[in-house]
Amino acid sequence: MTDSQDALMQQRMQLASTLGLDQPVPLTVLEAALNDDTYAHNLLASRRTPAMMQILLANPPRLRVTEPRWSNAELVGRAAAAMARWARTGFSVVDEATLTRRRDACLSCPNLTQAPDRQIYRLLPGQICKLCGCRVQEKTKLPSEACPERDPQRSEFSRWGEPFEKG
Ligand code: SF4
Repeated sequence: MTDSQDALMQQRMQLASTLGLDQPVPLTVLEAALNDDTYAHNLLASRRTPAMMQILLANPPRLRVTEPRWSNAELVGRAAAAMARWARTGFSVVDEATLTRRRDACLSCPNLTQAPDRQIYRLLPGQICKLCGCRVQEKTKLPSEACPERDPQRSEFSRWGEPFEKG
């Protein structure tokens, strides 16, 4: 098993453990939980209603993914790492003001681009950041994520207006 496959399996098991399951969740469930916070929260909310959880596990929403310069394996590894960071926040999301500020920055950013027509990106719709390969619609929601580029006007901040973190 490669490092990225191993990391992915760990994330499948971690999500299963969070949900009180004995077996790793299917890859489609992990991908859906990573990219659809409503689905993730519904999964968490169903921990006391096993019948509902089984329905959710059997019917993850269909998603489309997208990628610029990263290989499929690299994207899987990066998604697993993002999942781990997000898990450490308790699967929380940013407040509305932060989300609006981040999305406004992305919408006016020259690094925002349409996802290339690659199979891995067909899983999830939407525009991506060409610097990190992430779908900005999801990335901007997660408190564990950061914009990868400095603000051209204020170098101590990222384009999201947050203290710049070296990657
Ligand atoms: S995450 Fe940062 S660099 Fe990427 S598109 Fe958004 S504002 Fe631009």
